[in-house]
Amino acid sequence: MRVVIAGGHGKIALILERLLAERGDSVVGLIRNPSQAADLEAAGAEAVVIDLEAASVDDLAPHLRGADAVVFAAGAGPGSGAARKETVDRDAAILLADAAEAANVARYVMVSSTGADADAPGVRDEVFTAYLRAKGAADDNVRARPKLDVTVIRPGHLTDDPGTGQVTTAEHTLRGSIPRADVAAVILAVLDTPRTIGQTFELIAGDIPITAAVTTSDRE
Ligand code: NAP
Repeated sequence: MRVVIAGGHGKIALILERLLAERGDSVVGLIRNPSQAADLEAAGAEAVVIDLEAASVDDLAPHLRGADAVVFAAGAGPGSGAARKETVDRDAAILLADAAEAANVARYVMVSSTGADADAPGVRDEVFTAYLRAKGAADDNVRARPKLDVTVIRPGHLTDDPGTGQVTTAEHTLRGSIPRADVAAVILAVLDTPRTIGQTFELIAGDIPITAAVTTSDRE
């Protein structure tokens, strides 16, 4: 399998790159800072330098051609304001979908967030509200595309704890956290499980082995 990951130097992305490369899959990470390329190469991934807030569909599509799947794992990150939630968390995810369609790559796995909702009511603070709305709008946009085979994963609060291999998935989970390592392992399982196409689910730590949690029909 050949997988292209947007946000290739993100914490989840670097773990996923290593998982894919270790089992012999080919993986490309899209980064905007060339100095990060060495970290991707160490993880077994090829780095492509492209700024997803500046690129056009024509710039991005050639890098996706021939891939079996794209994964959106970019994010404006903590410390960014509302404007970058829109330009990265929403618009870059939509750009990836436009480019995937142009490159004839159907499979799209979105790393979204619990609470993502284009119409989210104002919560906690203005930036967090913008984040939830940007994530929700991106999810709605990519899911509405008949040409794409989309799975939307909505993790709870991310931690850098070691992965446990066990999770809870549901349409709506309780509030909770999850190690990034387990999110990466869930993405890998989702890529291997075509029946997750069309699904949106929340994800927190739990006690169901990842393969079972991803292949379950309980969410359908
Ligand atoms: P992360 O470590 O913050 O990585 C995000 C990556 O996106 C960074 O490597 C960043 O690169 C890249 N990026 C930002 N702007 C870009 C641009 N214009 N072009 C190309 N790449 C760009 O992410 P993570 O912690 O693995 O999380 C992955 C996803 O989970 C994010 O979408 C996040 O919103 C979501 N999520 C987070 C939480 C949480 O608790 N934090 C909960 C649920 C979901 P630079 O180094 O160049 O900035």
